[in-house]
Amino acid sequence: MKNIFNETYDALEDYFISINDKKYRATQLYDFLYKKRIYTIDNMNNIPKNTKEMLKKDFSFNFIKIEKKQTDENVKKYLFRLLDDSLIESVLMYHDYGISLCVSSQVGCNMGCKFCESGRLKKVRNLETYEILEQVLLIEKDLNIKITHIVIMGIGEPFDNYDNVMNFIRIITSNKGIDMGSRHITISTCGLIPGIKRFMNDFSQVNLAISLHAPNDKIRNKIMPISKVYKLNELIKVVKEYINKTNRRVTFEYVMLENTNDSLECAKELANLLKGINCYVNLIPYNETENIEFKRSKKNRILEFYDIIKKNGMNVTIRKEFGTNISAACGQLRTKREDL
Ligand code: SAH
Repeated sequence: MKNIFNETYDALEDYFISINDKKYRATQLYDFLYKKRIYTIDNMNNIPKNTKEMLKKDFSFNFIKIEKKQTDENVKKYLFRLLDDSLIESVLMYHDYGISLCVSSQVGCNMGCKFCESGRLKKVRNLETYEILEQVLLIEKDLNIKITHIVIMGIGEPFDNYDNVMNFIRIITSNKGIDMGSRHITISTCGLIPGIKRFMNDFSQVNLAISLHAPNDKIRNKIMPISKVYKLNELIKVVKEYINKTNRRVTFEYVMLENTNDSLECAKELANLLKGINCYVNLIPYNETENIEFKRSKKNRILEFYDIIKKNGMNVTIRKEFGTNISAACGQLRTKREDL
C-alpha cells in the first residue's frame, strides 16, 4: 500500500483515471490534505463513497511521530521517529523574513564529510517523500504556524535521494495544495554533479547551494571524500552551466575550520576560483561537536577572510548562528539513540 503523502498531483490524477473515476478528484483530495488539512477519509465530505473505499484500499495515511522537541532562542529542534523506528531531525528557525524549516532527506548520510556529525552514521536508507513532507505538516500543526521557507539541509545528501526529494518539492509547490513559491526553497548539495545536471532542467526556480568548503582539491579531498569523485574544476564548470541555464545566483557555503581552510591564502584562492561567477559566498562559523576534533576559526580570522572576499567584489555573508545550545545548528544533527 502506498502512502498518500508520496503522491504528486499529477500522479493522483493518473490514479483516478486508472480507477475510472474523475480526474478532478485529485483537486478535491489535494484540497483536503493540503489546504483543509483533513487526513481522515471519512471526513472528506464531498468525495463519494465509492471513491473513499478505493482510497482506503489503495493508500495509507500514516504519519511519522514527533518523539521530542527542544527549544532555544528563535529555534526549535524536532526529533522524529519513523514507522520503522529510525530517527531523523528537523530544525525550525524564526527569521525576520519568515519561518523556515530545515528538513532531513536521509537516515544517516554516506558523504562522510569529516567535520559533520550527521555523517557519523552511515546512510541507513533514503527518506520517502512522505517522510520529508510530514516533517512540514506535523510541525505546522504542532505549533499552529505556516512555514514560509524550506531548506533541504538537514541530515542526508538530497541529490543522493533525487527522486523522492524532487517529488517532495513538486508536492509542496503545487498550486493545488500548499503552493509554496519555488524561490522559498533551497537545496544544498556537497557537489554531486549528476544531480546538479538533472536539477537545472527539473527545477530552475528552486535555490541551489553548494557545500564548497575549500578553494582547491588538496584541502577539499582531506575534509570531503566526495571531492575525490567530483573534482573542483568539474564542479565549478557545472555550476557555471547551471547559472547559464537558469539565470539564477548560486550560493557557495564555506565552513570556517581553524588551521584547515581558513588561511588568508585560502581566501584569495577562493576569490580567484569564484571570480566572475554570479554567486553568494556564505561563510559558516563551524559548529563544534564533542565527537569531532575540528575547531571553529577565530572570530577575527572569519572577519579577515570575509574582507578579502568582499574586496574582490563578491557577495559574501557570515551565516547567523542558530540553535547551538540545543545541538540544532548546521552539522550537529544526528540520528542516534543517545538523543532520546
Ligand atoms: N548534504 C548536504 C546538506 C546537509 S549539510 C550538503 O552537504 O550540502 C548542510 C550544511 O552544513 C553543509 O554546507 C555542511 O557542510 C554544513 N556543515 C556540516 N557540519 C557542520 C558544522 N559542524 N558546522 C557548520 N556547518 C556544518
